[in-house]
Amino acid sequence: MRILVIEDDAGIADGLRTTLQQRGYAVDVCGDVASAWNALRTERFDAILLDLGLPDADGGVLLQRLRSAPGSAGSALPDPATPVLIVTARDQVQQRIAGLDMGADDYLAKPFDIDELDARLRALLRRAAGRAAPTIRHAGIEMDPAARTVRLQGQPVDMSPREFSVLRVLLEARGRVLSRQQIEEHLYSWDAAIESNAVEVHIHHLRRKLGSASIMTMRGVGYFMPQEPA
Ligand code: CA
Repeated sequence: MRILVIEDDAGIADGLRTTLQQRGYAVDVCGDVASAWNALRTERFDAILLDLGLPDADGGVLLQRLRSAPGSAGSALPDPATPVLIVTARDQVQQRIAGLDMGADDYLAKPFDIDELDARLRALLRRAAGRAAPTIRHAGIEMDPAARTVRLQGQPVDMSPREFSVLRVLLEARGRVLSRQQIEEHLYSWDAAIESNAVEVHIHHLRRKLGSASIMTMRGVGYFMPQEPA
């Protein structure tokens, strides 16, 4: 899952980047509204952590612009439905209400606890994927994004952090075909080196661990996890 952190305090931004990367997220950081808007116009993010006090404009300006972007299903950027968690030192009740009413999905006051931030992020991503349950279940596979564990028919399955991320992207999109590029968009921040056949290699390993029919290839198009028979 790829997260855009919009934060001008370098210490907080670095801390968020390091911690979220350790927890399996791809993280990009922007320090002002202009560069963040540029990023949102060119890249797809699964969620945004938004500071309000930014040097060139208020974070709320960016939020309102995002929510009123024309975007349509599929490819249009910026995607107005991108989940947004406001993380700010402004912690008055009225400010929290204003932030939520501007279109934020959630609000966290600084100083924050990183475990709470991560839990709120998981909740946001869960809702964005249309899930209510904290675990993802599909075809005998059970993924717990909080514990970062995977079980197959109840038995734990060992996997690398990257394999876990690829599987998560495919599970969240189950039944839909994703191109290699669409999978990569969720895995890499823009300064990360993308190994050219990495997705293929991870899928090869996932099939070995989860069964060859767990992930199907649509030749020339991409990959998908077939819907369970009704
Ligand atoms: Ca700030």
